[in-house]
Amino acid sequence: MAQILENVWEYLITNFSEFQLASAGTFVIHESVFFLSGLPYLLMEHWGLRKYKIQDRMNTPAAQEKCIIKLIIYHLCVNLPLMIISYPVFKYMGFTSALPLPSWKTVALQIISYFILEDFIFYWGHRLLHTKWLYKHIHSVHHEYATPFGLTSEYAHPAEILFLGFATIFGPAITGPHLLTLWLWVSVRVLETVEAHCGYEFPWSLSRFLPVYGGADFHDYHHRLLYTKSGNYSSTFTYMDWIFGTDKGYRKLKALKTAQEAHDRMSAPTEKVE
Ligand SMILES: [Zn+2]
Ligand SMILES: [Zn+2]
Repeated sequence: MAQILENVWEYLITNFSEFQLASAGTFVIHESVFFLSGLPYLLMEHWGLRKYKIQDRMNTPAAQEKCIIKLIIYHLCVNLPLMIISYPVFKYMGFTSALPLPSWKTVALQIISYFILEDFIFYWGHRLLHTKWLYKHIHSVHHEYATPFGLTSEYAHPAEILFLGFATIFGPAITGPHLLTLWLWVSVRVLETVEAHCGYEFPWSLSRFLPVYGGADFHDYHHRLLYTKSGNYSSTFTYMDWIFGTDKGYRKLKALKTAQEAHDRMSAPTEKVE
């Protein structure tokens, strides 16, 4: 497996320049992971699959189409230029695409630290975006979808896309990682944010197994409440909201739901065995 990966890598670095791989290559990786992971949720909503759907409401095909068209425009006009102009910064910090590939230990350590850094920057930036002026002029675009579906994760005002981009590339920009690490980081970060916006909570959802992981139910709550009352500002984890008390409404609602379910189970008529 490692040998196959090294051979593919050798082909890439001999046929493309490092700048091409870091800009256009990262763009292709981002687009592929984003649309391939987001489309199944869009189709599930389109086909009206309600099992495991968090909200009863569904988006219309016109609303879905509007989201996709705007995303393609923003990705080409904002994301791609951002990837191009950040290359010199990455390079200055020691970024490389050369062989040998980094060890899995290094890759895992860097990606975990990027998640922690991104979550911290995102939390504070997101809280700021929920102040009156910034919400009205910038963040309300992302909240146009009160019933999110995977692809709405990156549906935002260009200024917010720049902010999100900054939070995502801050970790790699200060550590100058290997290109492989950057591609893996972009991929897992996209998968995480698409899942947080997917609108479905499955029995196999990560949030059911990882105690500090937010997931779809956590972020869906943020979208369906008024901007002044929403809370749940973190992108990936739940501890920042817990520390700063911005998840109180959500936790109260969860406790009520659990109590209601327990009550329903207790008062359900017991089946007679003939
Ligand atoms: Zn928000
Ligand atoms: Zn969101």
